[in-house]
Amino acid sequence: MIYDVIVIGGGPAGLMTCGVLNKKGINYLLLEKNEKLGKKLLITGGKRCNVTNNLNVDDFISSLTMKHKRYLYGALNDYGPKDVLEYFKDNGLNLVLENNLKYFPETNKSSSVLEVLKRNIDLKKVRLNSYVKRIVKEEDMFIISTIDNIYKSKKLVVATGSNSYPATGSSGDGLLFAKQLGIDYKKFTPAETHVYSEYVTNNLPDLQGVSLVNTKVRILGTKIENTGGLVFTHFGVSGPTILHSAEFIYEELQNRNVIIAFGLTEKSKEEVINMIEQGKQDNRLILKILERLTTKRLSRKVLELSNIENKNIKEISKKDINKIVELLTNFTIPIDRVQSKEKAFVNAGGIITKGLNPKTMESKKVPGLYFIGETVDIHGPIGGFNVTIALSTGYKCGNNI
Ligand SMILES: Cc1cc2nc3c(=O)[nH]c(=O)nc-3n(C[C@H](O)[C@H](O)[C@H](O)COP(=O)(O)OP(=O)(O)OC[C@H]3O[C@@H](n4cnc5c(N)ncnc54)[C@H](O)[C@@H]3O)c2cc1C
Repeated sequence: MIYDVIVIGGGPAGLMTCGVLNKKGINYLLLEKNEKLGKKLLITGGKRCNVTNNLNVDDFISSLTMKHKRYLYGALNDYGPKDVLEYFKDNGLNLVLENNLKYFPETNKSSSVLEVLKRNIDLKKVRLNSYVKRIVKEEDMFIISTIDNIYKSKKLVVATGSNSYPATGSSGDGLLFAKQLGIDYKKFTPAETHVYSEYVTNNLPDLQGVSLVNTKVRILGTKIENTGGLVFTHFGVSGPTILHSAEFIYEELQNRNVIIAFGLTEKSKEEVINMIEQGKQDNRLILKILERLTTKRLSRKVLELSNIENKNIKEISKKDINKIVELLTNFTIPIDRVQSKEKAFVNAGGIITKGLNPKTMESKKVPGLYFIGETVDIHGPIGGFNVTIALSTGYKCGNNI
């Protein structure tokens, strides 16, 4: 049989496209290499799936770091966070707002999200255990070879994700297909992930678990900075602001040593100096002043690193006070490496958006060929951005076929 459309990959992007094709009565087939659909979706958000967020399209796009983020305007304007909310509500699953940003299913189970997506497709049109190995285009037909079958279709949608967490099935095959079909792509590299620092492991083991709620992390020697939470770990540092900085740290590490700097306090340098001056007037011990600026463990660490005893602030030299202010407001850590792309939550890289039509997700070079979701060179920070991008590009593609 010749199908109108074949979709490769049963993650949120592929499932959304199939749902739209199903509604339109188009003759489609979904090929998924795993024994079940949506394996990665099931582990998202600690198995709770942060489906989307409460940002409008402009704020959503300005939260992304890619230079070519405008590529997503078309898809998100057609199908943005509000549409995602409505879709799940219409399908009997309310999404609940957390921390005034992230939406999770009311069931707190990612499986409910997958169930809704599955309910909108015809399961008879799904072939599980179908590992696509090779794609050839002959005239107007795509010939798709799995290990034990050959399928033919007029249009082909590639929704195979990146190669983060390959055990879930997302092993980067979209780029293999791109190579077979002559489509331009960028290799996948780690984006949202932790970073390693031997300095932290060796010199700051007692800070393990200490977190900063809101700090500005800067990559020294660049203009890159991100604000948010940070946590010291046994291997280095993590937390939202580190995850968000990781792709840039990775890029910089390809050419040079990287040092990051951040404040141990939310106060500015000027405010810190003022609080120390006030402490002098109040005749305070230095530790007491520090504990008003940061956590107890960090306060003790600042004294230890600056080699200063806990004594009355008036007994501390100006030079030593400067050392303390510097540590509090500009704490530096050398970074050795970024977690591998296989263990990153999300990867950068993928099909280059310049080669795709933002109104349809179709390749400009190979008509009838579409790329959607994380297999494309688009990604966002944690906060429901990536599932939303998968659903939004999946919808846009299905709707335009
Ligand atoms: C631990 C973790 C937690 C996350 N949490 C969140 C979160 O809470 N919110 C959020 O927005 N994002 C989250 N993400 C990111 C999000 O999961 C992905 O961005 C999203 O799943 C991408 O969807 P996709 O459909 O493009 O690809 P995928 O979900 O990766 O699906 C691709 C599918 O294609 C199949 N496939 C691959 N190659 C082939 C082949 N050759 N033949 C046949 N089938 C193939 C795979 O088996 C897979 O089922 C998380 C990621 C991880 C790893």
